[in-house]
Amino acid sequence: MNIILMGPPGAGKGTQAELIKVAYPIPHISTGDMFREAVLNGTAMGKEAKKYMDAGQLVPDEVTIGIVEDRLAQGDCEKGFLLDGFPRTTLQAQALDQVVAKRGKNVEVALNISVPEEILLLRMSGRVSCTTCKAVYNTKFSPPASTGVCDKCGGELVQRSDDKEETVKNRLKVYQDQTQPLLNYYEQQGNLTTLDGNRDSVEVFKDVKAILENLR
Ligand code: AMP
Repeated sequence: MNIILMGPPGAGKGTQAELIKVAYPIPHISTGDMFREAVLNGTAMGKEAKKYMDAGQLVPDEVTIGIVEDRLAQGDCEKGFLLDGFPRTTLQAQALDQVVAKRGKNVEVALNISVPEEILLLRMSGRVSCTTCKAVYNTKFSPPASTGVCDKCGGELVQRSDDKEETVKNRLKVYQDQTQPLLNYYEQQGNLTTLDGNRDSVEVFKDVKAILENLR
């Protein structure tokens, strides 16, 4: 299974990825998580990426493509992968096609989670996540039992620095300008499937599962 999760920031890609990961034994590769980890570890790449992330901009293609190529070369990706937040530009999509073509494979399905912009703004401004186990909550729609504390592990809940209002607006603009055109790219390849993401995540996952079962 070679799967891509697409959709604007706040569409619920990470939540669906968590559900997919439990049901299907393929590695979940989130470029956003990889960059956040590099920032936390204070690596040179992390320091460079942080400048773009804090501005709501995309990290340059050469950096992003490099880390994804390295990750896909690891043995656990041989049986397939779930890419979350990559590709986000046409150049990234072309690079991914080359990597999978070299293995005689192709991207089987691009799952596009669609959510209206006003809902995305509400979702992102309320989003908090656990610093320990990464569980995600929304202070408006799915709050934790106790403010600031993770229900699952008791860890501290914080807002992502790029979920601040101004940055969110930039991220949505960048999505429209640079990533939305990619939907056409996958549409032309015949593997784009668009899902209504403006529903409870469990309902969305029922559709995701129906699509993925067809790939097996
Ligand atoms: P995400 O968690 O997927 O929303 O990603 C958070 C931030 O990481 C983005 O706003 C970008 O700055 C950066 N990022 C993640 N994935 C990519 C990508 N495929 N290309 C460029 N930048 C990315």
